[in-house]
Amino acid sequence: MASYSALDPCVHCGFCLPACPTYLATGDEGHSPRGRIVLMRSLERAEISAHDPALLEHLDGCLGCRGCEPVCPSGVGYGQGLEAAREQIFQARGLPLTARAVLGVFRYRLLWRPLFALARLLRATRLPHLLSGKSRLGFGMGMLAASAGQRSLPRATERGGSGAAGRELENPVKASSSINELPVSPAAPLPSRPSVALFRGCVMDALFSHVHAATERTLAVNGYRVVDLAGQVCCGALHEHAGDAGAARALAAANLEALAEGADFIVVNSAGCGALLKDYGRLLNSPAARGMAAKIRDVSELLAERGPRPGAALDLEVAYDAPCHLQHAQRVHQAPLALLSAVPSLRLHLLPGSDRCCGSAGIYSVLQPRMARAVLDSKIGSFAAAQPPPDLIVTGNPGCLMQIGAGLRAAGLPIGVAHPVELLDLSYEKAGFYDGER
Ligand code: SF4
Ligand code: SF4
Repeated sequence: MASYSALDPCVHCGFCLPACPTYLATGDEGHSPRGRIVLMRSLERAEISAHDPALLEHLDGCLGCRGCEPVCPSGVGYGQGLEAAREQIFQARGLPLTARAVLGVFRYRLLWRPLFALARLLRATRLPHLLSGKSRLGFGMGMLAASAGQRSLPRATERGGSGAAGRELENPVKASSSINELPVSPAAPLPSRPSVALFRGCVMDALFSHVHAATERTLAVNGYRVVDLAGQVCCGALHEHAGDAGAARALAAANLEALAEGADFIVVNSAGCGALLKDYGRLLNSPAARGMAAKIRDVSELLAERGPRPGAALDLEVAYDAPCHLQHAQRVHQAPLALLSAVPSLRLHLLPGSDRCCGSAGIYSVLQPRMARAVLDSKIGSFAAAQPPPDLIVTGNPGCLMQIGAGLRAAGLPIGVAHPVELLDLSYEKAGFYDGER
């Protein structure tokens, strides 16, 4: 069982409050990290019951984004404490019906594959694009539409003569937080071709196969040999975050069997999956699991290790939004920026709030739609106010892509969403790196 001990260093200073999206949305101490820590400790000491309505309201309202961790001067491991509390609550009262149904589907390939196949069929009709909007149904349609990828981008990148350089100078955000100056090394000499197995996942495999393809192509260009390992299942992150550690362990054990041998690295292009896969050693508590966890890399980490190789220019204004489980859980900050900096002419911006949760948080947006939208709204406001307006919001997690994409559609903003590796892939395609493959 996860442990509460990571909460021990908390001195209740409150430095974490301004970093907490739910506290910012409500101003309620109970929806802050400090307030939740007090509740979790009371639960641990059996001072309140696992059925206490206030406990459930405030812990269910936590995004699990871990935005409170890096700002804590005492080094409190909030995420570990939250997992311990959710596991205790799960054991005492199980899960609400909706959560049980959603997690049950993700546990079995036989269930989620046909459901996602239907979703893909619906997406292909483009009805979700037409029906997306502010209502709950419209927002769901917007999420599905946002998963469709950005294959129309090459046309956008050939616009030319946009005067982008002038706009760049006028951009105050750009002036203060430009990341285009990051050094881009030329293609590194490749002493060997490490083998890499792609972690396929569930949502990524079913709705973002274009990102998987882009991942494989860009890795190959950068000297990796991509191999396919069968027998993979959902990573179990959704179950772990809900407190169902038993289901998470069962899924982790199946992935361990499928992935432990057969490749030098296991590459993940979903930040949420990567965070749990890197934590399999703790979850399964075995040398084999720790060995496998040591091989896990986010795709941006592997590409950044190789430079990555620069491609052709893309004339785009791009705002990078950092997924919580990449920046806070995996502590990966620079690699996605290095990846995007390998695309010449791409103007990269970090907008206010780019390091704050979008409100997706696994199945949180399904279970807590009102709070999820309140958290998202401040991010969408930041995109709407940006000058120059971004062409694209780029982020490396499927939930964030869908949540932000739906929010942009609901707000009527003509801004697309893309995974960072999609842009590098388009840049390579434009440079002719794949011509020999056709
Ligand atoms: S979690 Fe850290 S920042 Fe927040 S109240 Fe406790 S010690 Fe202070
Ligand atoms: S995990 Fe996120 S939502 Fe939960 S208390 Fe920390 S900052 Fe707030």
